[in-house]
Amino acid sequence: MPDRVLAVLTAPEAGSEVAEPFRFADPDAPLLRVLDLGATRGDGVFETLGVGAGRAQAVDAHLARLARSASMLELPEPDLDAWRAAAIAVAERMSEHAEAFVKLVYTRGVEGSGRPTGWVLGAPSPDHSVARTAGIRVVVLDRGLPHDSAGELPWLLQGAKTLSYAVNMAALREARRRGADDALFVSSDGFLLEGPTSSLLIKRGDRLVTPSTSLGILAGTTQAEAFRFARLRGLTTSYEILGPEGLTDADGLWLLSSVRNAAPIRSIDGDERPIDAAFTADLNAHLLARRD
Ligand code: PLP
Repeated sequence: MPDRVLAVLTAPEAGSEVAEPFRFADPDAPLLRVLDLGATRGDGVFETLGVGAGRAQAVDAHLARLARSASMLELPEPDLDAWRAAAIAVAERMSEHAEAFVKLVYTRGVEGSGRPTGWVLGAPSPDHSVARTAGIRVVVLDRGLPHDSAGELPWLLQGAKTLSYAVNMAALREARRRGADDALFVSSDGFLLEGPTSSLLIKRGDRLVTPSTSLGILAGTTQAEAFRFARLRGLTTSYEILGPEGLTDADGLWLLSSVRNAAPIRSIDGDERPIDAAFTADLNAHLLARRD
């Protein structure tokens, strides 16, 4: 069974007539040009989708977000039919893995060429069972911007899923330095935001809450699915602007993301937090069974 599968888009942008939307390629062969702006400037966008037994999850939601992110970076509009075909074909080749992921990468292309680059890579998922059951230790980190800055500072691309994730990776390293597994960003004025690669979910009684995307955070596809799950169970859901009290008066907290799904937070800055094991298990079962 293949461990990694790569498809290269022939023309990742809309409006090009091509016979074949993608071709499979050897993931170990040299492929990316050294002048690709995705590599030299982090100038591009990406998406990571979960794959369960060969079926890509939440494809439409991820493609819609790819198009939104591309538009925020003023990249050419992506040809979503070509991206969908490539993502589904790569996911199908991962069918012997119970859990895998596919990553869609769309860059501004080789400098000066005016042509974007796009590829889809599939690989088996790491084992996330410990994070999903025992939970994760989280530290709170200041993202350094006020909570209402997204509209005023559009060039900072808050809320776009860009390839410029060096800051997010640095935050994860800082979390590990502090003895934790993951981080939660807050705004410089103390409002709860998101993790470096995840959305925050809060349970308060029979209500599920997540920070509002007006705060310049990513609209999470896993969070959206968690809200659908909650409504099926008769819980109410809301998007809110929350200060630190949002963490202290919670009955349960999770970081949500495609692939890892729902990781319950077992401590924040060293303070133990309760884990709702039954709710977490049901939510993860729902997320793993997601088909679209
Ligand atoms: N927020 C950020 C900054 C992310 O990078 C991610 C995923 O990588 C998420 C939230 C969660 O998004 P999703 O649930 O669609 O994977």
